[in-house]
Amino acid sequence: MAGSDRNGVIIIGAGQAGAQAVVSLRAEGYDGPIRLIGDESVPPYQRPPLSKKFLAGEIGFDRVELKPAEFYAQAHCELLLGTRVAAIEREKHVVLTGDGREIGYDKLLIATGSRVREINLPGFDLDGVHYLRTVGDVAEIQAHFKPGARMVVVGGGYIGLEVAAVAKKNGIEVTVLETAERVMARVVDPIVSRFYERIHKEAGVVIRTGVTVAGFEGENNKVTRVVSGEGENFLCDFVVVGVGIIPNTELAQSAGLEVENGIVVDACTRTSDPDICAAGDCTNHPNGVYGRRLRLESVQNAIEQGKTAAAAMTGKDKPYSQVPWFWSDQYDLKLQIAGLSSGYTQAVTRGDPEAGRSFAVFYLKDGVLVSVDAVNRAPEFMMARTLIAQHARLDPARIADETINMKDIAKA
Ligand code: FAD
Repeated sequence: MAGSDRNGVIIIGAGQAGAQAVVSLRAEGYDGPIRLIGDESVPPYQRPPLSKKFLAGEIGFDRVELKPAEFYAQAHCELLLGTRVAAIEREKHVVLTGDGREIGYDKLLIATGSRVREINLPGFDLDGVHYLRTVGDVAEIQAHFKPGARMVVVGGGYIGLEVAAVAKKNGIEVTVLETAERVMARVVDPIVSRFYERIHKEAGVVIRTGVTVAGFEGENNKVTRVVSGEGENFLCDFVVVGVGIIPNTELAQSAGLEVENGIVVDACTRTSDPDICAAGDCTNHPNGVYGRRLRLESVQNAIEQGKTAAAAMTGKDKPYSQVPWFWSDQYDLKLQIAGLSSGYTQAVTRGDPEAGRSFAVFYLKDGVLVSVDAVNRAPEFMMARTLIAQHARLDPARIADETINMKDIAKA
């Protein structure tokens, strides 16, 4: 696409993928107009620190922002903040904003991310029941951070456990309620779940698994207890709910684009409309490493798809196909996950998860490495990304033998 185009590029969603696309469009040599439209009132920022250092108050917003404010002006990108796109009219090549504007595009990128899954249980709207997705949510949660305050976390996934760790360090009494029989059950093996349950318990966090939350009760419209389906009461001053997210696909769906567990895109992020790409949490995309479609909720995915979309919108094919990776920081522990473990047939441990704070679990599917969870083990994580991409067949005995260097682990 040349810079002489009339309307240029519109990006809907001023988040991780959207901001990356601005950077990459200019890096690809695109010199036409770019408009980045976001419904939040602040410029694009990273979300991972919201449940880590930013929540802990260790860093300010300047360290969370993806780019300094002047970047957008320098990149000749018009930043329309506090602006919601209400509809896409594909025939006319325009987007309609919530405040009644009609803005034309030549190429459109949908990077609308995801939103928290709300739990529609009795008392869900009481004051003191919070979710965590935005900087605004952090401010509301931090307002409760007073030593001795009692917090109940609903959901023992990454975000719930990260919030628990930060709150505990701030002197809060923390109880985590998880419906499944173990924490992080959706994403890690029982070995890793048990390890994190131990770590949190040692830190003084109460972890209750197999508990189904039935509702919230309060006084003067303020939450004071979480009630379980089994009839237990968990007294609290505030609640943080972390029970997953829902991709923001409604705009795409209303515009008649193909949507199925995310906006369906090809490896170059193109949707079923050649003038519209989609990137980030909101997409369902093919992954060449695993030979199937995925919807991922990760920074890596948003960045890489943002780059790929910028290339696609300038007429270049740079297919995105990588080993997915993710991380979680809890206390002094960095959990790094390479690949996807679903369908694994064997889990092999390197290091001792029952003592100490450093180990890795290798997931094999019929002998082939598909995923690694590494706790404070950067070399294992780094090597795993290469080995998974190579579909390496590994000997479990060599994985478990810590005298064998990671670099040599695949040797026969
Ligand atoms: P987002 O960054 O969410 O951006 C989408 C933007 O679009 C949002 O600002 C949204 O408000 C806006 N928008 C939506 N609809 C419209 C509309 N109609 N009009 C205008 N604007 C719209 N990932 C990791 O890899 N590692 C981590 O440790 C990690 N920790 C996380 C911790 C927290 C607390 C959260 C919330 C997420 C975390 N993630 C982590 C996930 C990661 O942040 C997301 O995967 C990533 O932000 C996705 O980028 P995105 O651009 O797709 O969406």
